[in-house]
Amino acid sequence: MAEGEKLKLAICRGATCSGCDIAVLDIHERILTVLEHADIVFAPTIMDAKYKDVEAMADGEIDVCLYHGSVRDSENEHMAKLMRQKSKTLIAFGACACFGGIFGLANVTNKEEIFEEVYKNTPSTDNPDFVTPQPEYKDEAGHELTLPEFYDDVFALDDKVDVDYFLPLCPPTPDLIMTAINAIVSGELPPKGATIASDKTLCSECERKKADTRKIDKIYRPHEVELDQEKCFLDQGVLCMGPATRAGCGTICINGNVPCRGCSGPTKEAFDQGGNMLNLIATIFGVKEEELTEEEVKKIFKQIKDPLGTFYRFTLPKSMLRRVRKGGAKNE
Ligand code: SF4
Ligand code: SF4
Ligand code: SF4
Repeated sequence: MAEGEKLKLAICRGATCSGCDIAVLDIHERILTVLEHADIVFAPTIMDAKYKDVEAMADGEIDVCLYHGSVRDSENEHMAKLMRQKSKTLIAFGACACFGGIFGLANVTNKEEIFEEVYKNTPSTDNPDFVTPQPEYKDEAGHELTLPEFYDDVFALDDKVDVDYFLPLCPPTPDLIMTAINAIVSGELPPKGATIASDKTLCSECERKKADTRKIDKIYRPHEVELDQEKCFLDQGVLCMGPATRAGCGTICINGNVPCRGCSGPTKEAFDQGGNMLNLIATIFGVKEEELTEEEVKKIFKQIKDPLGTFYRFTLPKSMLRRVRKGGAKNE
């Protein structure tokens, strides 16, 4: 970029809780450093911005777009494609954009069942004709209304468009955001496709004392035991996703005496975070890899309150399971 010229930065939302927007504001006074180097040209949560403004831009006019949230409906997909077209660099920002995130757990069901629950079965719903949102509607006066189409599946951003970089965590921490922004401003970005975080596991960053040989015979929920704050959670029988999770957050949950839930996703090598963790749990239960039969898996799962939500809390759409099929996907 020419000297004195500023980057054009966009922050786009998909299916999101907006925690990722707040995370950007959470860099506090460091936002001034960002604004020294970048003009925010589109960020619907924090400033007035219209889709048509982006549509009017030239292709590649935006230097960097941070897209947060998963892709859950046709509007999310439209915006993902539009931002891809208009941005030189597209970053999947946060666990939802990187892996489908917590919303990805909806892949245990489908659109039909979700609509039935929300528009029929919920006790506060009064909808005797079971009216559900329609993508297109024409009223008696002939006015046409449209709504985004709700998909059967939740997708990660790179399931729909080409993504340049991934910035995980739910939401990304201020330090990680600044690492990414500094890399963008200095032009010292890693190779395309990289995850802007450590390549190591969270355990490698964790300062808790680990047993030389891990062996447990029961899994506890954190409130069921008095936790030793110096000792590894797993050694105390409490599930911690650290061994299957990418480092980079600074072990913030662990520092607060809360086990890791895995929001940084798998390491580069692990690929399937849940499967990797399940293997490790089996090992510390004394099950040999070649003995990890369906029966053994069931025995372990019996002790865990919510196995799918535990092992795939943030990554189900990008896992080998991808979805737990009930009705099948229609929007691939
Ligand atoms: S990654 Fe977390 S904070 Fe960001 S949109 Fe998803 S749920 Fe919200
Ligand atoms: S399992 Fe959790 S508590 Fe134990 S070393 Fe790894 S990150 Fe730390
Ligand atoms: S400790 Fe685990 S759950 Fe907590 S922020 Fe880090 S990666 Fe996410």
